[in-house]
Amino acid sequence: RTSLIDSARIAAGGLKDFASGLATPTVRLGVTGLARAGKTVFITALVHALLNQTRLPLFDAQAQGRISRAYLEPQPDDDLPRFAYEDHLAALTAEDRRWPESTRRISQLRLTLDYTPQGFIARNFGRDRVHIDIVDYPGEWLLDLPLLGLSYQEWSAETLASSRVSPRLALARDWHSLLAALDPMKPADEQQAVKAAELFTSYLARGRGTDVSLSALPPGRFLMPGDLAGSPLLTFAPLDVTADASFPRGSLGALMARRYDSYVAKVVKPFFFGHFARLDRQIILVDALTALNAGADAMRDLQKALADVLAAFRQGANSWASALVGRRIDRIVFAAAKADLIHHTSHDRLEAILGLIVKDAAARAEYSGADIDIAALAAIRATREATLRQKGEDLPCIVGIPQRGETIGTETFDGETEAAIFPGDLPANPEEALRGGLEGALRFVKFRPPLTAGRSFPHIRLDRTLEFLLGDRFR
Ligand code: GDP
Repeated sequence: RTSLIDSARIAAGGLKDFASGLATPTVRLGVTGLARAGKTVFITALVHALLNQTRLPLFDAQAQGRISRAYLEPQPDDDLPRFAYEDHLAALTAEDRRWPESTRRISQLRLTLDYTPQGFIARNFGRDRVHIDIVDYPGEWLLDLPLLGLSYQEWSAETLASSRVSPRLALARDWHSLLAALDPMKPADEQQAVKAAELFTSYLARGRGTDVSLSALPPGRFLMPGDLAGSPLLTFAPLDVTADASFPRGSLGALMARRYDSYVAKVVKPFFFGHFARLDRQIILVDALTALNAGADAMRDLQKALADVLAAFRQGANSWASALVGRRIDRIVFAAAKADLIHHTSHDRLEAILGLIVKDAAARAEYSGADIDIAALAAIRATREATLRQKGEDLPCIVGIPQRGETIGTETFDGETEAAIFPGDLPANPEEALRGGLEGALRFVKFRPPLTAGRSFPHIRLDRTLEFLLGDRFR
């Protein structure tokens, strides 16, 4: 299903990268993750730490004082919006400090660093320069990769089948009852198409509700439309048909199939071939704590979503996508974000749980290729730690200012007062997390961002993560 046009587009993108690489080496760093995983906060913290020469002990180039200058430059791709770094930083550092606006669409930022390479000869021969092009995009969009290989009929049959098992079945009731009344072979009716798309979208959105917290719900743009909100490109939905159905001309099925094909051609392909395929490094932020708290179904669903995401990085010899997609990415970090919401004594356990999910996901995605690192990370640490004694027992707690309106038990916070919270223990055996039983056992509240008074943001393992992602480019 890949055409010559796609190859030409790749070649064009590749040439552009090559030409600009001749002047100054460039690393294209992809930052992704499902909604609210922490992409915006991560990029803002990373850029701030490099621009302000924050102490980063495990990021060698910075720790060794070899980065002499860091600055923002106009980004190379005119077709991408710029990542709104200044706005996000302003939100975090304003008097009423708050978390920035989350990622809704793809954006880009170019950070340029002047550095002295390691080693005797290099030191004597002066400076080098590297561009780091950071590309922020919704992880939901990666879930669309399989659509490139599925016909409308195949996609419909698969989507219907997965909506007929628990916990999705209960969420899909309204959409299913509409489907029962639609005849794909009868003449197309625009209102029916609109209604079907509406109910299908709200089924997907309900899967994202806090109770169920499903992760794997393509098409990606239905949940994260970016600039396509309200566009006719999104006015389609699966119908109850077999994978080999054929539709008469002018039928509802034919209309839906045509729109699906346009979505794949005009939305999915340009993203994968024009942007994703040109990344060199990738960090995937995962909100594992929310999934853990939601229970075993949510964990299994997260695992499935990560397998789908990893499939996009697959480099297997017989994968039709291998020649085009993701062939350059050679380092991937899976980061369990917001690790400051648990005590550090649970960080290893969080890493072990994410490691287990990723391992299974990698096996399912027949993944091979890039080096993978797993980290429990807090790009901006909003808490510190303390030990509380309660009923003769020492409880490892975290301390911070919960956002106004957050509650624990009967207590409601006012957004100004500090609180010590025992978030609960993660299981020592990561398998337990997949078996469930943790539902509601963890206590998380949203904290306000830390008060920095113009200094750098505190973090957990941002330096180690940067070293893994970029360290070799400064040697
Ligand atoms: P995005 O949708 O992936 O761009 O997610 P954001 O970066 O906007 O993060 C979503 C929310 O998660 C933020 O509004 C914060 O409440 C929270 N968050 C993100 N990163 C951190 C972190 O490092 N520590 C804490 N405590 N909260 C975080």
